[in-house]
Amino acid sequence: AAEEGFDAEDVEGAIGDAGHGPLPVLAVIGRPNVGKSTLVNRIIGRREAVVEDRPGVTRDRVTYEAEWAGRRFKLVDTGGWEQDVLGIDASVAAQAEYAIEAADAVVFVVDATVGATDTDEAVVRLLRKSGKPVVLCANKVDGQSGEADATALWALGLGEPHPVSALHGRGTGDMLDAVLDALPEAPATTFGLAVGGPRRIALIGRPNVGKSSLLNKVANEDRVVVNEVAGTTRDPVDELIELGGVVWKFVDTAGIRKRVHLQQGADYYASLRTAAAVEKAEVAVILIDASESISVQDQRIVTMAVEAGRAIVVAFNKWDVLDEERRYYLEREIETELLQVAWAPRVNVSAETGRHMEKLVPAIETALAGWETRVPTGRLNAFLGELVASHPHPIRGGKQPRILFGTQAGTKPPRFVLFSSGFIEHGYRRFVERRLREEFGFEGTPIHISVRVRE
Ligand code: GDP
Ligand code: GDP
Repeated sequence: AAEEGFDAEDVEGAIGDAGHGPLPVLAVIGRPNVGKSTLVNRIIGRREAVVEDRPGVTRDRVTYEAEWAGRRFKLVDTGGWEQDVLGIDASVAAQAEYAIEAADAVVFVVDATVGATDTDEAVVRLLRKSGKPVVLCANKVDGQSGEADATALWALGLGEPHPVSALHGRGTGDMLDAVLDALPEAPATTFGLAVGGPRRIALIGRPNVGKSSLLNKVANEDRVVVNEVAGTTRDPVDELIELGGVVWKFVDTAGIRKRVHLQQGADYYASLRTAAAVEKAEVAVILIDASESISVQDQRIVTMAVEAGRAIVVAFNKWDVLDEERRYYLEREIETELLQVAWAPRVNVSAETGRHMEKLVPAIETALAGWETRVPTGRLNAFLGELVASHPHPIRGGKQPRILFGTQAGTKPPRFVLFSSGFIEHGYRRFVERRLREEFGFEGTPIHISVRVRE
């Protein structure tokens, strides 16, 4: 083993990273500038996943995987969300409301040097109403002298304020211990239904692409089995709909049917909704209005689903109104704008006429199958051996980095850990991914590849 440079522990460590099944979700909320992003960065530390470059796509990731004391969870960072569209108070409240909805537990960050503001009080009311577990973070307590500021936050009525300096790390460990106590082992939003229950579909897409129409179409043509109100908040409704002889759970359909008719901020609400729905789902059906140019907003939604690691189907709606010319340009746009999901099954539908509705379920099943594919280690290494022999990594600085061994560390989505003798260039990683897809399918699923270099 010494010769290869790895032992069983390396491999187990790698597998431990990859995870199995849904993780509990922790949302970090609070007013602008209280230090949410700083805190999130401190919690994820260097553990953030390898970032892929996707030219032309704005990255607005909101969810990270984090770990503390051996427990893993999803961390929703609301720091980067647009704050301006609704005015501070309304946007903080809206942000908090949707983040709370999506979360199993919440870290509420208050700037202890400022003290509790009216906006903070408004968020406290939302938190109380939600009934979700809350850990109060009294941030910017950089030294002993700030402790009194933290103590003053008992007045919020949320229990013990945890004095923290997100900037310097002071107190974050104790606070995270409290977070682990508050966080359920499995996410409450999917609890009990995740295993053996109906598969969870998020129907997402920018406003007016036809989500509501599509949902009504599938719900009317087939049978809506039950309306089910999930959790303690009144808003998110998951609907069980029978399609193709199978019952599916469309998550968070309240956001689809009861659309928020706001001139300003509609996009903002929509993106929060999308993030929440994607978190709860196994497969995202991304609806795109085929009659209009593919927009940056469409791409953001695609990125969100890819980064969340969901199975993905891309459905082009309003096919009934496409003329020859638009069809031509659409195909060109798909090639350039939707490159990041070139592997996703595609259906061309019309929620209006019902065109190709029957193709939706097979596409969803294909994507879920890809998402759950597991390649046995022996087969993977036979494949890697051949690949390395026929297409070696380019020589760099007189050395030739080589992939030595690999294992699939997890599914949903498939995650691979490759062990190598040197730095594997981005281009070569992409090549490996492409070949993996050619060999093993993985239709409709993102795949993660991480590389561990032998030191
Ligand atoms: P967000 O808008 O809530 O995400 O806040 P940011 O994380 O962007 O932080 C806002 C400002 O507060 C930045 O200038 C941070 O450097 C600063 N900040 C964040 N945490 C701390 C802290 O613990 N102590 C001090 N002194 N400053 C902090
Ligand atoms: P949502 O905001 O994504 O839920 O979109 P809606 O379902 O409210 O649809 C927005 C508009 O597009 C409505 O006027 C619908 O009637 C129209 N629409 C939806 N699907 C189709 C379709 O397949 N063909 C056509 N021609 N119009 C559609």
